Amino acid sequence: MTSEIIVIADEVLLGQTLDTNSHFIAQQMVGIGQPVNTVTVIGDDKDVMLTAFREAYHRSDVVLITGGLGPTHDDKTKEVIARFFDLPIIFRNDILEAVRERFKERQLPLNDSTREQAQFPEGATPIPNRYGSAPGIWIEREGRFYGAMPGIPAEMKSMMTDFVIPRLRKRCEGRDTTRFRSLHTFGIMESTLFEMLDNREEIEQNAKLAFLPSYKGVILRLTAHGKSLEAANELLRRAERLVRDKVGSYIIGDGENFSIEEVVGRLLRERGWKLVTAESCTGGLLSKRLTDIPGSSDWFERGWVTYSNESKHEELGVPAELIEKHGAVSPEVAEAMAEGALRRSKGNVALSLTGVAGPGGGTEEKPVGLVYIGYATASTVMHKRHIFPDKRDVNRERSATAALMLLLDQFQPHIRERAPQLI
Ligand code: ATP
Ligand code: MG
Repeated sequence: MTSEIIVIADEVLLGQTLDTNSHFIAQQMVGIGQPVNTVTVIGDDKDVMLTAFREAYHRSDVVLITGGLGPTHDDKTKEVIARFFDLPIIFRNDILEAVRERFKERQLPLNDSTREQAQFPEGATPIPNRYGSAPGIWIEREGRFYGAMPGIPAEMKSMMTDFVIPRLRKRCEGRDTTRFRSLHTFGIMESTLFEMLDNREEIEQNAKLAFLPSYKGVILRLTAHGKSLEAANELLRRAERLVRDKVGSYIIGDGENFSIEEVVGRLLRERGWKLVTAESCTGGLLSKRLTDIPGSSDWFERGWVTYSNESKHEELGVPAELIEKHGAVSPEVAEAMAEGALRRSKGNVALSLTGVAGPGGGTEEKPVGLVYIGYATASTVMHKRHIFPDKRDVNRERSATAALMLLLDQFQPHIRERAPQLI
């Protein structure tokens, strides 16, 4: 089955709105094993819309459209769909009643342009709108499916999850299916992974293997096509087993919602340890990201933002002479911050960050992007140095990630033993 998305939104073409709708729809389609082949973004122009519908009609079995379904003159999707499928527009009392009910709930008067919502293509099915008044439009023809939804993300999302996806899932049963699986590796370079996976041929008899590197690690993505959901899942399972046989100890998580913070939390929980943080250049970002994880109070004890030299001294007991001698951005101060955080809390392990986030403040000796990360436990004190080449916000994100990776690195020495040159 082939599927595609048409986004109708002048504001996306003008760069005013980021097209998050197709992102969501694409994810949902992957969830039912039917990834989309094409995403088209067009403006609110009737002729352009007709051309896009025609092309999609020839190309795909499922066409999902968002945008331009509202009651105003710039909303043309309903009219164009009716024209394209040659459906007369009729008045539907049931839609008017639904809209009237919504307005009554909110104690709003029903105006003429809202009544307009009850004009609907004959033979099409209205998709109920939980968050607004414009119903979506659903059309099934000769085993093909067309869905038009509003551009407002909340309205589109509820129509996708409550109506479109359940329907498509049922219609897809027994049809060709594509499934994905992401395996997140840590502490190993892409090229080394590639070499270690010398059973690629056997893996690829089951699923396509892709390497997706980023500064957080390399994701191994497996893609399997099967005659049914079960068949595709079985191929994925086989391929995953083959991958794990070779590089299993580098895989620290799986799935699309994987986060390094969760892995850190899990490792801390396993040890019954509490983490403390002392941040300078990241201004609390590391503790924010850690405490984004539900249940983090089990393993996150406290965090300091010690931005000034005085606060590093007063809050963490970093000797003023140390800062004077080496500067705030130095391995000595990073380690002293981590040790101080440990000493002044009930934590078992401390992470600290001190760096030049930029854009100003860099010198030849200490350039923008230079970051020292400190790590301390009762028995170990160490640091790691990085130079990040990006803008301030990216440097801060990367610094926080690097701190988490340093902790992973220390907690999973078996990875280091197997690849000492990589960490
Ligand atoms: P209504 O006119 O009833 O509000 P509609 O279906 O006509 O709904 P649009 O007018 O196309 O929707 O878009 C409404 C708002 O939804 C836009 O202002 C924009 O903020 C948001 N939006 C539209 N398309 C997208 C998209 N592809 N991704 C993210 N947001 C979008
Ligand atoms: Mg609109």
